[in-house]
Amino acid sequence: MKIQKNNPVLNPSRAEFNQHLKPCPFCGKKARLTNRLADSYTVECTSCLGQNEGDTIGGDGVVADHRIAMADAVEQWNTRA
Ligand SMILES: [Zn+2]
Repeated sequence: MKIQKNNPVLNPSRAEFNQHLKPCPFCGKKARLTNRLADSYTVECTSCLGQNEGDTIGGDGVVADHRIAMADAVEQWNTRA
């Protein structure tokens, strides 16, 4: 997996990060990246509701912070046992 955390793209694309998500470790179904909480991103399973919360978005809420928070959530989801 290769995500450029500091890529200064103006529009953070959630779809782009979704492509890097592994299937749910519990049920094998598709996972997706959400930001139900305004200040952080969470990866959750579309089937069994297993989830993993990522880093909080930095205080400024700039685009780069969103990308880092999304990349972190994806990384955590993909690397857990
Ligand atoms: Zn699941």
